[in-house]
Amino acid sequence: HSTPVVTVDGPSGAGKGTLSSLLAKKLGWHFLDSGAIYRVLAVAALHHGLACEDEECVVPLATGLDVSFETNDESTRIILEGEDVTDDIRTEDVGAVASKVAALPRVREALLRRQRAFQQDPGLIADGRDMGTVVFPEAKVKIFLTASAEARAERRYSQLKEKGMDVNIARLLTDIKARDERDTQRSVAPLVPAQDAIIIDSTGLDINQVFEKAMDIISSRL
Ligand code: C5P
Repeated sequence: HSTPVVTVDGPSGAGKGTLSSLLAKKLGWHFLDSGAIYRVLAVAALHHGLACEDEECVVPLATGLDVSFETNDESTRIILEGEDVTDDIRTEDVGAVASKVAALPRVREALLRRQRAFQQDPGLIADGRDMGTVVFPEAKVKIFLTASAEARAERRYSQLKEKGMDVNIARLLTDIKARDERDTQRSVAPLVPAQDAIIIDSTGLDINQVFEKAMDIISSRL
């Protein structure tokens, strides 16, 4: 496959989503938000009922997942079975279920082809946890974006506050640490930097500084 891929992996709240969409816009490339796929799957599982957390229930949902990303100039709407779930998938509760179903090996396998289908000309920015290690091991550039748990909790706090949501920063920090633990300790596709990844620590950096760093890395390698 000759279409270039840049992977952006890292823990939740490090700023991957913001960085990746800026990079995709700047380069005019496609954008894969793989976390959104796991989140949509979590919503589908929740629709199915509380007991839908094991492979037997979730794998068929993952295989048949009817999700589409409708992008226009301003935004991307995420559609599950004809229903707009763009906002629904961003809650902490959905994130928690997403990280549970994402720990099931056969679920990850069922979503591989769907993710690889995003590799289309002129290029792809792929945002997730295992983009550089599992989904696109041949990627030209691999970035691992991280930040301290405290910095990530603070960012998340401001984002949610801005949306008018009632949040507790201590609970956010606990949730972030629990999610990190699950994402790094799981047996399949754990959150680790690829061997050839370049690590950017965004603690104390603003988004422009992170973007500049990433563009320098990409320009020197493409
Ligand atoms: O990145 P985001 O927070 O939207 O992802 C939600 C959850 O989906 C993560 O906590 C992680 O468990 C899972 N995920 C994953 N692999 C990816 C992307 C997300 O396991 N490539």
